Amino acid sequence: MNSEAIRPAEQTKFDAVIVGAGFAGMYMLHCLQKLGLSARVYETGGDVGGTWYWNRYPGARCDVESMQYSYSFDADLDQEWRWSQRYSPQPEILAYANHVADRFDLRRDIRFDTRVTAATFDEGANHWLVETDQGDRVSAQFCIMAVGCLSAANTPPFDGMKDFEGSIYHTGHWPHEGVDFTGQQIGIIGTGSSAIQSIPIIAKQAKTLTVFQRTPNYAVPAWNGPMDKNYEAEIKADYPGFRAKARARPTGFYFPFNAKPTLDASPDEREKKYEEFWARGGLPFLGAFGDLLFEKEANDTVAEFARRKIRSVVDDPVIADLLCPDNIFGCKRLCVDSNYYEVYNEPHVKLVDVSKRPIERFTKTGVIANSIEYELDAVVCATGFAAMTGSFDKIKIIGREGLTLSKKWEAGPRTYLGLSTVGFPNFFMITGPGSPSVLANMIPSIEQHVDWMVDCISHMRDVGADTIEPTLSYEDDWVDHVNAVSEISLRSTCSSWYVGANIPGRPRVFMPYIGGFPVYVTKCNEVMTNGYEGFVLKGAEDTNKLPRVRWTDRWQVELDIEVMSPAAIAAGRVPVI
Ligand SMILES: Cc1cc2nc3c(=O)[nH]c(=O)nc-3n(C[C@H](O)[C@H](O)[C@H](O)COP(=O)(O)OP(=O)(O)OC[C@H]3O[C@@H](n4cnc5c(N)ncnc54)[C@H](O)[C@@H]3O)c2cc1C
Repeated sequence: MNSEAIRPAEQTKFDAVIVGAGFAGMYMLHCLQKLGLSARVYETGGDVGGTWYWNRYPGARCDVESMQYSYSFDADLDQEWRWSQRYSPQPEILAYANHVADRFDLRRDIRFDTRVTAATFDEGANHWLVETDQGDRVSAQFCIMAVGCLSAANTPPFDGMKDFEGSIYHTGHWPHEGVDFTGQQIGIIGTGSSAIQSIPIIAKQAKTLTVFQRTPNYAVPAWNGPMDKNYEAEIKADYPGFRAKARARPTGFYFPFNAKPTLDASPDEREKKYEEFWARGGLPFLGAFGDLLFEKEANDTVAEFARRKIRSVVDDPVIADLLCPDNIFGCKRLCVDSNYYEVYNEPHVKLVDVSKRPIERFTKTGVIANSIEYELDAVVCATGFAAMTGSFDKIKIIGREGLTLSKKWEAGPRTYLGLSTVGFPNFFMITGPGSPSVLANMIPSIEQHVDWMVDCISHMRDVGADTIEPTLSYEDDWVDHVNAVSEISLRSTCSSWYVGANIPGRPRVFMPYIGGFPVYVTKCNEVMTNGYEGFVLKGAEDTNKLPRVRWTDRWQVELDIEVMSPAAIAAGRVPVI
């Protein structure tokens, strides 16, 4: 720690410390401010926005439509903010985060450029002691993790990286001033979502672009464009109604959905449906039939359709073959692209297959793969994140009886509802593992978690409780339930970052909850109205007082039975635990 960086003495006792100032930390702070609680947010980055502060690579944009990928907690905010595109680019999403921070006066309680290094529960005092790399040592009754599911960038330790004399970038840590690749020989490692978004744009600048591909991914065209003013007006005429329709969906966002089973349709009918949904583009393509992610035979038909699309765009059949995935369609996170496959028809773009023999090493002047040295001026690592738990791993979190979170999660994360974990009282996770998180539209997922936590904290104040912590049997049942439901979906069958497979040595556990957003929300509501079932509240003076529903009132979700996935139905059928 740099001693000059130590701040002058300031407040050291808070009701809550929040780690992270992305959309989760910002909304949590806003709610606690409204509740009149004292809160301090620490954020490693220099400003708000989280994902959208860090991921400034060319082409970065959301893949849930902007009209839905936004906060819903404030009707005026909903009306006043205007998105310029159907899927808005990173600078605009970051501008939105800044607008929210200004509008709700959030920055006064946030300390930027400050990384939380440790959080320790003091059992005598029933509070958390939080330490930062800037020398802060503060205590708080609640420690709230808003560290993000996709915030710990992963750069594989390639041999010889240090010898490389060119520049190395990670898409998740892109330089703020931007990078000009004009006239340069560029290599990009990875073909996941960030690579698929950035490759077409980098290709426009670079003299040559060499793409190192381990596993091809499916991508559906975004058909992005300027916001349709009529569409915007139609939604804004009844935004709450539109948001409610979205909440009723397993994904937490609304799109036309055809519930019919794939194989009930004739081949002609299927083709027509696929074309119709392809023309709409993006993630909603998965709504072409009701069972695409659950029945292998159904999935085979959509996978073949997508491969035909790739072959129809890419001229060279050998390259097209390399770009065609042979795994389950949608098993890994489906990518959404703008002119991705077209790029491979450009003579200066090269695809290098590293599926059989991984990249050997970096040299002073390039990268060696398949015994060939590719001369490069710069390398872009589009190698993703240590998803879901990566940012927790970087903080020394110590609960009751000296238990560390890393020890507890050694074999994979264990949580109750993805909100909390046994051994760590008054410790909340926003979109933690075991909640829908990355399988749903993340902003409503964040808002629902925060509202639940704020109701919980309010209830603790009502009854005078000092601590809240789940019980082991409820946590074990929830973990079993998360695993059981995941097995119903084809998504659990492949090596994706959902199961930690992108990073060697990580335990293979399906981390997000796949039962669907409405089933999950209903479960959270029940737990709350049953008096925080599965939790122990200690120190309460009034143990009989039933919780009041305040913030969570807007999460009384109606299930949209039409679009219930088999996993959601199965989840709903699992006895309430
Ligand atoms: C390129 C990209 C595109 C995406 N597009 C979509 C989309 O279209 N739809 C969707 O639903 N989701 C999308 N996501 C997921 C996205 O992460 C979430 O939608 C959302 O932004 C998460 O907000 P958050 O606040 O939970 O986490 P983040 O935005 O990740 O913020 C977490 C913050 O915590 C900070 N932090 C972590 N550890 C510490 C520490 N120890 N001390 C201090 N600060 C710390 C980080 O610096 C970070 O700023 C995308 C993700 C990426 C990477």
